[in-house]
Amino acid sequence: MRFTHETLAQRVRFAPGDAAGALADEAARLGASRVMVIAAPAEAGLAGRITGGLPVVLVHDEVAMHVPVPIAERARAAATGAAADAIVCVGGGSTTGLAKAIALTLGLPIIAVPTTYAGSEATDVWGLTEGARKTTGVAARVLPRAVVYDATLTRSLPVGLSVASGLNALAHCVDAMWAPRADPVNAALAAEGIRALAAGLPAIVDEPAGLPGREQALVGAYLSAVAFASAGSGLHHKICHVLGGLGLPHAATHAVVLPYVLALNAPAAPAAAGRIARAFGSPTALDGLQALRRRLDAPRALRDHGFDDSLIPEAVEAILPVVPANNPAAVTAAVLDRLLHDAWEGTDPR
Ligand code: NAD
Repeated sequence: MRFTHETLAQRVRFAPGDAAGALADEAARLGASRVMVIAAPAEAGLAGRITGGLPVVLVHDEVAMHVPVPIAERARAAATGAAADAIVCVGGGSTTGLAKAIALTLGLPIIAVPTTYAGSEATDVWGLTEGARKTTGVAARVLPRAVVYDATLTRSLPVGLSVASGLNALAHCVDAMWAPRADPVNAALAAEGIRALAAGLPAIVDEPAGLPGREQALVGAYLSAVAFASAGSGLHHKICHVLGGLGLPHAATHAVVLPYVLALNAPAAPAAAGRIARAFGSPTALDGLQALRRRLDAPRALRDHGFDDSLIPEAVEAILPVVPANNPAAVTAAVLDRLLHDAWEGTDPR
């Protein structure tokens, strides 16, 4: 057993109902005196409620999925114009992503307040898009210095979005099991993430306004992101990254593609598959995932999410060169073509 595991340094606070107090503490710890708040218009109300105690000099609300470069540049110019010395971002992965784009060039510290289960707040991965091309990279300076999780802020996330976003988190956990830097430490975090999400997501479906399910889902989202940041992108993330560049919605794409990647890799990775199955409390990994997906009425087919199957050859060509060398199952163009057709149609992954 030979591996090198790196743990990212970050303060993490779970403060149900008290994001405002936790945020004020964290901003004071950073010595922030000129805070830029980033929140999309839809989350402006949530952000306003929790940032009243901060020395806010700028509220910025131009946010878009996958962080288009012109939007990042306008946000950087706004931060510089206001002489901000810290960023507080309140929202989903798109909002956290914009804060990271600013930190990447200006080095401002971020305090993240996530309102979905995307998990970007716990990774040092940034992403920017230019046209249809999405570029990602890793940089220590984009890792938020602190994260404030307040489950009451996620109550307004509709059930459908909660499910898709939660399955995005679950995909971080499953893919971490065979990603390039998979090790026993991140596998343990990923397994616990699967347990938390498998418990939390059905509870959200049963009682969308209830706190226990939302809290479990946030714990799962955090664990999933730590595991993903540590293990790196496996085959699943490589596929979804390319599909995202073709304009597909991030969370729903992850939710649809995951069972097909699991069906492909599980037979070639029995130890990982066993671990996933145990985390689900299920006879096999795929049984566990599919039972959860049925319970959640999860997104089923890429064709329901704006994917045109005429784009499959282009997608296969883009995915093939980035398939991780250590992927458990052999991946050829024919394998990817079949996987994407099945995911497009929503056929039984078995
Ligand atoms: P998102 O941030 O685009 O949010 C989805 C929708 O949910 C938006 O319309 C938003 O307004 C709404 N929303 C958010 N919180 C809400 C709440 N509490 N109540 C009601 N509505 C709410 O989507 P996402 O899935 O959170 O994030 C996806 C983005 O994050 C992608 O660009 C993806 O690449 C990125 N991401 C990055 C990493 C990383 O490590 N860098 C990890 C995961 C995701």
